[in-house]
Amino acid sequence: MARYVFITGGVVSSLGKGLASAALGALLQARGFTVRLRKLDPYLNVDPGTMSPFEHGEVFVTDDGAETDLDLGHYERFTGVPARKTDSISSGRIYSNVLEKERRGDYLGKTIQVVPHVTNEIKDFLRVGDDEVDFMLCEIGGTVGDIEGLPFFEAIRQFIHERPRGQCILMHLTLLPYLAASGELKTKPTQHSVKELQSIGLAPDVLVCRSEHPIPEKERAKIALFCNVRPDAVIPAYDLKTIYEAPLAYHREGLDQAVLDAFGITPAPRPNLSRWEDVMDRLTHAEGQVRVAIVGKYTQLEDAYKSIAEALTHGGMANRVRVKAEWIDAELFEKGDPTAVLEGYHAVLVPGGFGERGTEGKIRAAAWAREKKIPYLGICLGMQMAVIEAARNLAGIEDAGSEEFDHERGAKRFEPVVYHLKEWVQGNYKVQRSVGDDKGGTMRLGAYNAALDPESLVAKVYGATAIEERHRHRYEVDIRYRDKLEACGMHFSGMSPDGRLPEIVEHKDHPWFIGVQFHPELKSKPFAPHPLFADFVRAAVEVSRLV
Ligand code: GLN
Repeated sequence: MARYVFITGGVVSSLGKGLASAALGALLQARGFTVRLRKLDPYLNVDPGTMSPFEHGEVFVTDDGAETDLDLGHYERFTGVPARKTDSISSGRIYSNVLEKERRGDYLGKTIQVVPHVTNEIKDFLRVGDDEVDFMLCEIGGTVGDIEGLPFFEAIRQFIHERPRGQCILMHLTLLPYLAASGELKTKPTQHSVKELQSIGLAPDVLVCRSEHPIPEKERAKIALFCNVRPDAVIPAYDLKTIYEAPLAYHREGLDQAVLDAFGITPAPRPNLSRWEDVMDRLTHAEGQVRVAIVGKYTQLEDAYKSIAEALTHGGMANRVRVKAEWIDAELFEKGDPTAVLEGYHAVLVPGGFGERGTEGKIRAAAWAREKKIPYLGICLGMQMAVIEAARNLAGIEDAGSEEFDHERGAKRFEPVVYHLKEWVQGNYKVQRSVGDDKGGTMRLGAYNAALDPESLVAKVYGATAIEERHRHRYEVDIRYRDKLEACGMHFSGMSPDGRLPEIVEHKDHPWFIGVQFHPELKSKPFAPHPLFADFVRAAVEVSRLV
């Protein structure tokens, strides 16, 4: 039976609960425990798959095909434990399960209520995989006191009582605002948010206090007294230069010790922090810098491409260089030559995306990188753009495009070199789709295998000819254009095992030009940089040495 740590937040949102949870997971691992992290989100979307990345940040895809909150990306990057469908839940999913059961007649004769039916559904979710790990870390999205969050807090209250004593603890994150006028840190909002928790029957065992200024011992003691926690369970959390400092910083402040103390685990096994020391060493002892242009659309909000930014950092760590990723709006050179904007970059990355806006600029970026022999990594839509570029500019298919854009406009304008995928194989099943299907959860999602041509660049990069990567797309490069494109030097170097779906393309006559239909960034970790990102950055370093 796992021990449970519930992680909640108060005072304001965006306190870094996800990061604190992930760092705690890493620290428990460093002490030899096994962990699994989970996210409970109070919004009513069934999953974040249909939300705009502008609003909600990136959609993180799991191996088993769930579209989840970006916090699950942090969890994986810090613990290396692949997240599953059952590690992410929203109110929308809970209610849809409950309503489905109601229609099926599972509760026949009963009046369906938040307590117990919704809270039972939440508790069922919490228990999944309970016997697999030492610690289950469950983060509750939002802030205590939010209307939407109440059923989750109530479910946790019940859950704690149903477990043997000492099996569950609560870690609460708050903010200590600093008043410059009086030069003081204020503890009152923290006290209020703890009161809010207490009023729904929950009491924190560990308080993590975000602060921009050092927290004096006196204030720490005051928080402990007024919030009913032990003084050494009040953990300061100061701003960090990099998120990867979090495990070591939280360890220094005693977070893992406080958590183990709260469970009564004594003596606590000694931690081995060498993984995080090495990560920090690589980050702080980088030599030189490469500039990577990320040509995209969601450039206003970096969170929209969280995993790509992180994977590039990891690629830099693998080469001990700093990667300066700059987000460039593809619409800047929708019609003209991108040279003026892209010159001076050592590599170009075109990430995934949806919709036509910005795509002409992305196609131009791909053409520019191909012609100038600058390393190019195209991810999902970025691969599709590279293929359309080759089709137009090398194979002479002037109106080459994606059916996605025709569907968006409701008009036929392009020759569909990229078409709407209607059928594919998943394990032993054939998946079928049609154009009018629901949008939620119907893409080709999750881990699929690809077979690589042993003679290709990508096989060299991976050091393997069979790989498994995560997907999230509805459209696909049409295999029927393969011969035409290969005749022009674009090599289809990775295919689905049945040989029907192009997974990877590269240009033969180019030092480093790779397009992948999947999302390699989702599997990169600071302590295990993804080979594609590591080698892409290596190629960028070579370019930087030439100029
Ligand atoms: N919009 C494209 C598709 O659905 C690419 C998706 C993506 O980049 N994730 O196929």
